[in-house]
Amino acid sequence: MRSNIKLGKISGIEIGLHYSWFIIAALIVFSLGEHFHRVNPNWSTNQVWVAAVITGALFFLTLLLHELAHSLVAQSRGLKVTGITLFALGGVSQFQDDVTDSKTEFWVAIAGPITSLMIGFFCLGIAMGLGWQRSTEPTTAATGILVWLGYINIALAVFNMIPGFPLDGGRVLRSIVWAITKNADRSTRIAARVGQGVAFLFILDGIWQFFHGAGFGGLWIAFIGWFLMDAAKASYNEVESTEKLRGIRVTEVMSRDCAIVNRGMSLQEFVDTYVLRTGERCFAVADGGRLVGLITLRDVGAVPRDRSESTTVREAMRPLKELHIITPDTQVLDALKLMAGNDINQLPVVANGALQGILSRSHLVQLLRARSELQSPATHHVPPHRMNQRGVTP
Ligand SMILES: [Zn+2]
Repeated sequence: MRSNIKLGKISGIEIGLHYSWFIIAALIVFSLGEHFHRVNPNWSTNQVWVAAVITGALFFLTLLLHELAHSLVAQSRGLKVTGITLFALGGVSQFQDDVTDSKTEFWVAIAGPITSLMIGFFCLGIAMGLGWQRSTEPTTAATGILVWLGYINIALAVFNMIPGFPLDGGRVLRSIVWAITKNADRSTRIAARVGQGVAFLFILDGIWQFFHGAGFGGLWIAFIGWFLMDAAKASYNEVESTEKLRGIRVTEVMSRDCAIVNRGMSLQEFVDTYVLRTGERCFAVADGGRLVGLITLRDVGAVPRDRSESTTVREAMRPLKELHIITPDTQVLDALKLMAGNDINQLPVVANGALQGILSRSHLVQLLRARSELQSPATHHVPPHRMNQRGVTP
């Protein structure tokens, strides 16, 4: 989940919105408008909508505080947080590295629900201070907003503590299993399986409610269940592939027949003679035998079509000094982390000053798929050297 719209940075953490956020923001404001209109029939239409928009905005602020709590605790325990994205089903924090101990996992996970719970009680407390009494409908706009925010944040805390991975409660469960078994992979697998079970119950419950008159609300629950099911399955698969890749070095899986392009070539010529004929996505760029950069389909796409004749490969490529370089002995898992952390899909593999090959995400996925189809364990032998190096050195 990547942000489409960047809002700014807090404590070095990029805060952003995914497009899907607008759908839920609109739904929340409309349902709030309806709620305020029903509860306070004496309010004018303007009052209803102003209150709905303010409440919606404050709700997203509290959602952001929930995510910030996760992120700040993670930062305080030495993890690098890259960003927070708000999307249709809430928020998600992105960490550069995996959590390496169960204690950190526990505190990072529980910080969010604790924050939501505190916000909830805080809002209800202020509402009471302003004269609202429990189990009555609030009478003023301020108490109306505070009471709604209070209950929604308490509900958010409770919902997130359901022990289905990747919900916060699932992560807490994972940290506990981890502390007991001392096995990170096993704890993820167990938490993900429980998560799939919980998600299945959500879907069943949503469908049941839909057919018993809950309408959209029922479908929404089923949709959340479907999303959770997907996320839990993805976490499970990730553990599987991580286990398969553990201990494997880059030299065993990199692609060696990496085409080399001359930097002076025009982009159009490059596309015609290399990209369209080979179907590869990444090429090394050389200048008289010296490696000077990489060019990928993404770089080609960044240049407007009508300028592809007048632009050279050198102008469109990513120069060597901007590239992250790995060696044949780098662990594949470390290389994957480097790619994920920098949002890149391939890394040049360099040894003794010469390009040895390219490690690309898509190639790795194909390789893993082929291996699992053959049910063969990862072979630890080096395939024959096929790359025509032509003395390319960085
Ligand atoms: Zn959370």
